[in-house]
This record gives sequence, structure tokens and C-alpha cells, in this order.
Amino acid sequence: MIPSILPTYSRAPLAFEAGEGAWLTATGGRRFLDFGAGIAVNALGHAHPVLVETLRRQAARPWHLSNLYEIPEQKALADRLVEETFADTVFFTNSGTEACELAVKMVRKHWSEKDPARTRILTFEGAFHGRSSAAIAAAGSEKMTKGFGPLLPGFTQLPFGDHEALRAAAAEADVGAIMVEPVQGEGGIRPLPDVCLKGLRDLCDDHGLLLVFDEVQCGMGRTGRLFAHDWAGVSPDIMMVAKGIGGGFPLGAVLATEAAAAAMTAGTHGSTYGGNPLGCAVGLAVLGIVAEPAFLEEVRRKAALLRQGLEGLVASHPDVFEEVRGAGLMLGLKCRVPNTEVVSAALDRDMLTVGAADNVVRLLPPLVLTDADIAEGLARLDRAAAAVSAKAA
Ligand SMILES: *Cc1c(COP(=O)(O)O)cnc(C)c1O
Repeated sequence: MIPSILPTYSRAPLAFEAGEGAWLTATGGRRFLDFGAGIAVNALGHAHPVLVETLRRQAARPWHLSNLYEIPEQKALADRLVEETFADTVFFTNSGTEACELAVKMVRKHWSEKDPARTRILTFEGAFHGRSSAAIAAAGSEKMTKGFGPLLPGFTQLPFGDHEALRAAAAEADVGAIMVEPVQGEGGIRPLPDVCLKGLRDLCDDHGLLLVFDEVQCGMGRTGRLFAHDWAGVSPDIMMVAKGIGGGFPLGAVLATEAAAAAMTAGTHGSTYGGNPLGCAVGLAVLGIVAEPAFLEEVRRKAALLRQGLEGLVASHPDVFEEVRGAGLMLGLKCRVPNTEVVSAALDRDMLTVGAADNVVRLLPPLVLTDADIAEGLARLDRAAAAVSAKAA
């Protein structure tokens, strides 16, 4: 019999009832060190006092108002995002997938008026943009699309790192945009080198294409800059944001330049819940903390500490791990054994990690984790690796 919850996830038999910072307490009292952060969502960890207080205060005010009216919390967050980024304008969503939907619609609308043949968007193998019909068509992997055809047309996936194929595809007359994650998350923590992000910007400029960055996972301070593309010193025309921006409250956004967004006039898009006061109040509180230069500096310092420890871990368990990859606190351990074994050995040692494609174990701790949390995480991973190694021998 089908379970009451549609079984699209294979879940660990664990439920959590309390959390603080990088720690979660399961029913029964076991304490887990959280290096998954709900897949890069709980940027400020669990029960951050500022976020708890913000939501509590906002909960006493109207929860929902509709975008038929002005929403001051939404305006404040949009203004702040515009101030902090390349963007001139923002649309709020409830998730990354919805941000992807709008990014795709915005590209198409832009070209519908300028050069209607340019309906195709170039994406990359291993990409992940969400689970809607547009998002799975954009990513194009067999795993996500099988059985869901006919797929939304207008996407071409290019091999990761094949510059020739990219240059040839970008020159075609029906291409309107390139969409890419500056650091692939689900694809196995694969950062695009800065020089490639610059190259993509140049290529888009040469052919007049829109550049769309999906920073749903790598954005909001995760790499030690507010957005991952800040490292490369280039900016997109359109950017998708979600996950960390709500610190655990469902919130997403599409940020865009005026030129890219100009065709999105009244009535061309909408969302009942997008930009609601609860989400925007929390988002503003998150941004107020994460955008602080001193906070980002701390993320970079802790990221360097964790990375150094992980390099040591890989060196001492060469039978289990192949390499460390990633940026900031978005790190991956490429495994020589099945990554699921490492995730499960870590779980047995009360530590949460997340698997990814390419046989990688993802480490996405809350950005507020402490030096002691890092030391503890490294110790638990070391014990997990030793257990995996002993089992394999
Ligand atoms: C998680 C993710 C999405 C989808 O976000 P949802 O909030 O799950 O809809 C899109 N793009 C990237 C890069 C992601 O990591």
C-alpha cells in the first residue's frame, strides 16, 4: 500500500525536535552535528535568536496580504538586495524551482520582443535547477526527466568544461541565454573556475546573450562572499536565489538588471505567496547578518580551517577519499568507496552530511558553526572513514 506521504524520498528513520546552531536533537535525545543544514538552507543554523525574534514579531501581524497591495517587508528586502548586488529589480518566490521558472520566462519574454527566434537556453550537464517541468528540462538528466516527457523544449545541455562546444553553441542564432550554477551543488560540488565565469560573461557579451546564474545553493554567503560570482568579479543579467536566503523559511527570488527584466510588465507573472511578509521579514534579517563584511570574513576563515582539516582527512584515508573540492563552506569529499557508505557511517556517528552526484559527500554546515564544531566534525568524519575503511578491508 502506498504510504500516506508520497514516497519520492528515501528517508533516514530519524526525526528532530530541537536545534541550536549547528546541532540538532533527535526524538530520544541523540545529538547530531549538522553538516547538511537542510541542504544549504539553514545558513544561520537552528534557532538563531534574531530569526526567532523576527518571525515571532511578524507572526502577530497579518500573515498574508496578496501582491494586490504594497508589502513594506517585501519592499525593504528588495531594496536591500538591489543595494547589495548587480540587480535593479527583484521578484520573490517561495522556492528555487519557482525562481527557475521565472528566470526561464524572463529570458523568453526578453527575446520575444527583441529577436523571437532566440528561445533556446544553454545549460550544463550535471546541473540542477529544481523539479518543475522547466527545471528538469533545463537540467536534462535522465534521472530527473525519465517518464516525464514530453519535456519543455528549448534547452541544450553542454558537457561541463567543453569550451569548444560552448563557443559553437553560443554562436547559434536561436540561443538567447546561458544558465549556470557558479558552483554545481547536486552535480557534485563542482565549482566553475573564475576564469570560466569571466569567459561566460565575455561570450554572452559577444553574442548579446543573457547570462543567468543559479545561486540557489552557492549564494547567500555560502562561499564566503555574498554571492559566489562575486569572487570572479563578473555579474549575470538574471540570478536565481533561494535556500539560504530564508534561513529555513521558504523564500526565493529572481534578481535581474533592468535591461533583462524590462519586458516583465504588469500581468506577465505572479505568485500568491511570493513576497509574503513572513518570508520577507525573515529574509531581511538573514541578509542583514550575512551581508556584513565581518560575517563573510568569518565564513572565509572557518572555511579555510575546515578545508585544511579535510585535506588532512583525505591524506589519511586515501582508500576512502579521492579529493576535497568546493568553495567556502560548500565543500565536497569525492569518494573512492560509494558515497552512501560515508554518509551512513557519519550518520552512525551522529553527524549529518548530504550525498551528491559524482560520488561526492557534501558538507554544507550552517555558516555560523564554531571552530569547536569544525574540530568535532573532522573528528567524526575521521572515525566514519576509519569504519568504512575497516569494513572494506
Ligand atoms: C535546490 C536547488 C534548486 C531548487 O530549489 P527548491 O527550493 O528545491 O525548489 C535550484 N537550483 C539549485 C542550484 C539548487 O541547489
